[in-house]
Amino acid sequence: MRIVLVEPPSPKGDAYTRGTVLRWGGKSRVKALTPPLLAAYVAAVLERGGFDVRIVDANVLRMSKRTAIREIERLSPRMIVIDTSLSTLDNDAFFAKDLSHNGTSLALMGYEGSQHPEVLKRFPYVDYMIRGEPEYTALELAQAIRSNAGVESVRGIAFRSPEGNIVISPRRPLIDDLDRLPFPARHLLPQDRYRASVTMVDATPFTTMISSRGCTFACTFCTSPVFFERRWRARSPVNVVDEIEYVVDEFGTKGIYFRDDEFTLNHRRAIEICNEMLKRKIDVHWTCASRADLLTRSLAQKLRASGCTIFHIGVESGNQEILNAVNKKLALDKARYAFKLCKEVGIKTVGFFIIGLPRESWRTVRKTIEFAKQVDADFAQFTIATPYPGTEFYNYVLENDLLVTEDLSRFDPSSEAVVKTPFMSPDDLIEAQKVAYKMFYLRWRYIIKILARNVSPVRIARLMRDAFGLLSTL
Ligand code: SF4
Repeated sequence: MRIVLVEPPSPKGDAYTRGTVLRWGGKSRVKALTPPLLAAYVAAVLERGGFDVRIVDANVLRMSKRTAIREIERLSPRMIVIDTSLSTLDNDAFFAKDLSHNGTSLALMGYEGSQHPEVLKRFPYVDYMIRGEPEYTALELAQAIRSNAGVESVRGIAFRSPEGNIVISPRRPLIDDLDRLPFPARHLLPQDRYRASVTMVDATPFTTMISSRGCTFACTFCTSPVFFERRWRARSPVNVVDEIEYVVDEFGTKGIYFRDDEFTLNHRRAIEICNEMLKRKIDVHWTCASRADLLTRSLAQKLRASGCTIFHIGVESGNQEILNAVNKKLALDKARYAFKLCKEVGIKTVGFFIIGLPRESWRTVRKTIEFAKQVDADFAQFTIATPYPGTEFYNYVLENDLLVTEDLSRFDPSSEAVVKTPFMSPDDLIEAQKVAYKMFYLRWRYIIKILARNVSPVRIARLMRDAFGLLSTL
C-alpha cells in the first residue's frame, strides 16, 4: 500500500516550515526552508511498517497547487497525510479539497488539529485528524486502512462516524523511548533544495535533527508544555551520534541544526553527545538551542570542542518584569552570562526575543533592543507575541480582551500581530519589530564585526542574501 506525505504549497508562495517537532511552524523572512522533520519521521516509521512511502514537498519544490496535485495523483496513493501548521491550516486543508478521493484516505496532522480535533468538521473532505505525536498513530491508522479494519481502536485520531459525527479517540501517550524511532526518512526528501539561514547553521550541506523532545519549564506563551505535557524525553547519546555519523557518511552533511527545545537540559547527556562525537572524530558544524541558565563554562567548552558553532538563546525580553509575568523563570543576569560564555569559547549566539508579551510598551521594547545589543549577540530574532491556542498566554489575551482576530492564518509571529497590549496597538507591535531589526542590524560596529567573523566568500554570500532578504521585508 502506498502512502504519500505532503507538504502543501505555502500561502502566497512564502517560505513556510511546517513540520518540525516545533509544532507551530512558521514563515521565514529570509526565505530559509528546513526539511519537514516530523513528516520524515512519520515516513520512516511507515516504511519500517512495510508501506511504500513517498514525500511530496511541494513547498520547497515551489510546485503550484495544480502541479502538486498532479504529482500526488500520479503516485496513486491509498492514503495521503498532509502536514499542517497553525497559520497554514486552512491553506493546507483546502489544498486537500482538490485531491481526487477515489478510494484514497486523507488525513491531516499538526498542532491545531491536535488541540482541537473537532476542527475536522470544517473540512468534510478530510477523513482523519492525527493528533499529537504522529508517528505511531499514522502507522496504526495505515495498518487499519490496509486491512479494511475499523479505525475505532486507533488512539490519537479524530474521524467521522457513518452518521457523520466527529468521533475523537483517546489520546495516545507520548513516545517513551525515542531511541526506538528509526532515523527520519531523509532519502525521500529533495535534500539539496532546503536552505538554511546563517542563523541556523554555519556549514552546508546541512540537515536538521532532534535529539530530545519537550521541555520541563512552563513559559506561558510556549506550545512545548502544551504539546509535550512538560515532559522532556531524550535519545541516548550513542543513538544521536549514530544518526550524525549516518548523515555525514550517507549524504555528505557538514552542518546540523538541532531542533530540540532544550538540548542541554541534562548536562551529562549533552556532554556525552559531545564526547561521542569527539571519540568518533566527526567533523561537522552544529547548532543547538537551550535556556540561557542551562549553560556552564565547562559545557560551553565541550560544545565548542565537538563542533557546536551557533547557540540559540531564548531570552524573550530584556525586562525582568515581563519575564516574570510569562513564567520564564530566567534572571537576565544569567542570560548575559550565557552570551559572555559563548563569546569566550567561540560560539556564535542568536538571541530570540518576543515583542508584545504582557505589559509590553515602547519603553520595554527599547530595553529589549538595548539588551540584545549589550550582550553583543551575533544575531537577533524579534518575533511578535502570538497566542497559540492551548497556551496560558492564549487564555490571558482572551480574558483581557487583547486578541484582535481569531483568523488563524494570521497567527504568524514573523510578521503579523494578532494581539495588542494595554500600551501598544497591533500596528505598534509590527512597527516595534521593524524598529528592533533596524536598530540591531543597521549599526556600523555590528556590520564590521560580523563581516570580520565571516571572512569566507561562501559565508559572506549567505550573510548578504539573508541581510537583503530581511531588510527587504522591513
Ligand atoms: S524554556 Fe523554552 S521550550 Fe521551555 S517552555 Fe520556556 S520557551 Fe518553551
